[in-house]
Amino acid sequence: MIITVKTHAQTELIDITTLIEKAVRSQKGFENGFCFIFIPHTTAAITINESADPSVKTDILSILNKVIPWNDNYRHSEGNSAAHIKSVLVGASEQVAVEQGRLVLGTWQGLFFCEFDGPRTRKVHVKCFS
Ligand code: ZN
Repeated sequence: MIITVKTHAQTELIDITTLIEKAVRSQKGFENGFCFIFIPHTTAAITINESADPSVKTDILSILNKVIPWNDNYRHSEGNSAAHIKSVLVGASEQVAVEQGRLVLGTWQGLFFCEFDGPRTRKVHVKCFS
């Protein structure tokens, strides 16, 4: 299954936990196993982190932007090397266990789509297996 995510800023963390849960529930007959989430982009990523306090994602982006500035004598001619580097650091996939059709996440955890070169329309692949 492929989910579409529209991003609205150059760098942005979007909580997609509910979207992933819906995708998992739409898999008929699938109740227990694993959900594999893959981002098929080189300037985006996925991560699991706190979804309760929105200032956490603001802090994460703030530090990523500080450590990896947009301009820094990069050689890549497209001009978005910072986005590629952030994508490498955060990663293109996550795995979450599924029990009785629900994602097994910690109380404060959510799944975040990480946009590093937006705004764009992005894809998220979701594969469930037992
Ligand atoms: Zn590029």
